[in-house]
Amino acid sequence: MNDNNKLKKIRRIFAIQLTTKHKLKLIIPNNDSSDSIFELFINEMYNQLQQKLSKQNEQLLNETNGNSPLFIQKKQLQKDLDDFHILDKRQDARAIQQIIERVEHMAMFNTKSNINEIKSIVQSNKQCQSIIIPQPPPPPMQSISSSCSYRALCSELINRLNWPSDLFAPEYDRCFCKTCYPVTLPNVCQANIGNKYPIIIPRNWMKFGLKIDEVQAKVHQIWDKWAISYHGTLPNAALSMIKHRQICLPGDKLFDGTQLSIRSGHIPNQKSFFTSPTIRYAAQNHYATPLEFTSQIDKCVYTAKIVLRCRQMPDTFIIQNETLNNSQINGTDFCDIISDEQIEWKTDQRGTVIFDGLCVRLKKVFNVGNNTNNITDQIYSQQTNISN
Ligand SMILES: [Zn+2]
Repeated sequence: MNDNNKLKKIRRIFAIQLTTKHKLKLIIPNNDSSDSIFELFINEMYNQLQQKLSKQNEQLLNETNGNSPLFIQKKQLQKDLDDFHILDKRQDARAIQQIIERVEHMAMFNTKSNINEIKSIVQSNKQCQSIIIPQPPPPPMQSISSSCSYRALCSELINRLNWPSDLFAPEYDRCFCKTCYPVTLPNVCQANIGNKYPIIIPRNWMKFGLKIDEVQAKVHQIWDKWAISYHGTLPNAALSMIKHRQICLPGDKLFDGTQLSIRSGHIPNQKSFFTSPTIRYAAQNHYATPLEFTSQIDKCVYTAKIVLRCRQMPDTFIIQNETLNNSQINGTDFCDIISDEQIEWKTDQRGTVIFDGLCVRLKKVFNVGNNTNNITDQIYSQQTNISN
């Protein structure tokens, strides 16, 4: 299905969701209704939402409490209208991708009757079934919480890193814990039509959005065409590359004047940067060294791993076999979707990789082992060996 049709479907589903959510007095058209009937419905939906917003704005004129229920309601309504507008304008590919994910999530957690309505629309086009989960789970009226406890713990770790806040784009934060991204949701995400590479969901990871250069994004159509991959590393190596705004290869002279050497255990003279389409491979200890982290929230000790989420220009990397001797050790592939023969991507072209997310995974430990490093030591030590 082309992007145009997909967006049309998503727009219809979103309009139905907003009608139900804001209890609008509107009849939802049948799924086989014509485009013009849907357009009338969507226009009316949009008008009613705007009327509702101006009414709430009037009611809030004398409200001083920024956390009052009506104020929060108004903010949500404003966000819904903004999102719908972005979908209509079709200009901001990254924002549209976020909205598509939001609509899919809302479909998951809406009431059963609403899901059936949405499903019937989606099923009118079979190819569309991968957008909405064919079998929705029983309907817990659970919203996608922006404050899941896992997200809070990961945020604590990120705050502890003390990176400049200007690097982050919190509007693109996304949690893939079991609550925020239930097991019933797919393991692979449908890519934009221009992207031929798989998008594998980083289950159990929390992704913090990173800002990227908008000029670069537009010139190269990054959100539409570039592959998604992962690069496991240590926090200060990650920060160094984010600040350099590009990958660093062995031999490069860094901002601090040091020369980047090849990490021990790697093939000498090989100046390459390694990524993987699956986070599970990128997060192997060899790449993403585990760190110890004690949370002040729950006073528990965790091992933490950090992986950069990358966007990679298509056809600029070599797809190759894993190099950790996994199959000999474990006998099975790292990933259910990508075979070990294709799990490692290798490039020596600097401008072809950008970083759009910082992924964090925490695992609770009860006995603190000796093979983890203390995070504060890691952050403040002079770590310049940032190549894998
Ligand atoms: Zn979560």
